[in-house]
Amino acid sequence: MTSLQKKEIIKKNTFDKDDWSSAYQNVELELENQSLEISKGNIINELDGTLFRNGPGILERDGQWVHHPFDGDGMITAIRFKKGKATLTNKFVKTKGFLEEKKKNKFIYRGVFGTQKKGGLLNNVFDLNFKNIANTHVVKLGNQLLALWEAAGPYALDPNNLETIGLSTLKGALKSNEAFSAHPKIDLNSNFSKEVLVTFGVQTGPKSIIRLMEFSNNGDNSGEIIFDRKDKLKGFAFLHDFAITTNWAIFLQNAIDFNPLPFVMGQKGAAQCLKSNPQKKAKFFIVPRDSGIFRGQSPISIEAPKGFVFHHVNAYEKESKIILDSIFYDDFPSVGPDENFKDIDFEKYPAGKLKRSTIDLKNHTSSISTISEQTCEFATVNPQVIGLKANYSWMACTEQKIGNAPLQAIKKINLNNKAETIWSAAPRGFVSEPIMVPKRNASEEDEGYLFILLWNGKRRGSDLIVLNSKNLEELVTYELPINIPHGLHGSWANT
Ligand code: FE
Repeated sequence: MTSLQKKEIIKKNTFDKDDWSSAYQNVELELENQSLEISKGNIINELDGTLFRNGPGILERDGQWVHHPFDGDGMITAIRFKKGKATLTNKFVKTKGFLEEKKKNKFIYRGVFGTQKKGGLLNNVFDLNFKNIANTHVVKLGNQLLALWEAAGPYALDPNNLETIGLSTLKGALKSNEAFSAHPKIDLNSNFSKEVLVTFGVQTGPKSIIRLMEFSNNGDNSGEIIFDRKDKLKGFAFLHDFAITTNWAIFLQNAIDFNPLPFVMGQKGAAQCLKSNPQKKAKFFIVPRDSGIFRGQSPISIEAPKGFVFHHVNAYEKESKIILDSIFYDDFPSVGPDENFKDIDFEKYPAGKLKRSTIDLKNHTSSISTISEQTCEFATVNPQVIGLKANYSWMACTEQKIGNAPLQAIKKINLNNKAETIWSAAPRGFVSEPIMVPKRNASEEDEGYLFILLWNGKRRGSDLIVLNSKNLEELVTYELPINIPHGLHGSWANT
């Protein structure tokens, strides 16, 4: 296809940028157990459990906007289903920084993604303090709900009313405010126990240290750390996510450099100081899990394909190989200091593509193939097959087949034959990460529900849509009583 043809395709698929950017607003209300009304479809009686979502809820204080929505304070939404009836509770995570800034009604911390304090360079230079914004993910561990942000410790919340309990050390497993990834994996297939939460923390520098932790997530010792190892990694490491198999934890060390000078000098946020280094090679860093059969062995380092990855989808073992699906970008996407995030030109930003890496642990080589060219993010699999071979993945994708744009559609892809099924909210709807919840007693991997928080550009409000995960048929839509900005990650709990 010529570049002219590509441009024609992009032009045909229009969306209204105001519809998209209208989602960026402060969440004004905190509600408790508010009943939700169905606006379309029918009640699903068998739904029993809670959908938890996290994302930025404060984007502006006293007329000053964050530079990037990722700098916004975390707001948790819980949508609880009991015999199909839905209620909504939402609360801000009452972090120390949130409470301080709320009291003063202004930003008093710089943001990692470029938000500066008012007062120009002089007021920002040498200020390396940051607030734990707890805005990235929310998961249950033991009897607590954890609001996560990767550069600091987890905030514990009461899962019932979302009241903030406080910064947690997870029963003494962590030092106070120790970095704790926002991408834990719940492993239902580990060698150790029925349910394990596997996660990591990174201390980065000229040498980085990865701490791989496994917590029991069921039974009497639920919430306790059961495996814990630390490994040194050469060079700077920006690790947002990882993947697991039964025996391995897989990290991708992107080929990027961190030059902290503009951050220290008050000109840029720390994340704006990350830059791809074409001279460097990306590396897979593969750590044996202590719950697995290679316990105690050294990690394996293998050259990785070119590209930048935030999110992995899933991994599994196939003889002496690891098959890893990830969303690859050509480069690290960042909103520059002079750009307005609500008015970005999507076509200028690198687009995410679903790719498959095959990592040969015997020969220490890797290869890559593209599963789908269409821009996508937030891909997931049935939670019951995390770490095993998944036959299907669900993800948020663009409406158009080529080029970058907001995420407006949901795609199911058969990972064996690449067959695709699409559900679209275009032209006026904008989707978030789909959360797949298998049906109780499902006999097939794709049998279940997909939960999608949607920004409805037409009515300038948020909807919750439940799709049939097998065929992406719309089952029910709830109009939500709060407006939720485009968010990050979430999870489902069967309680
Ligand atoms: Fe993420």
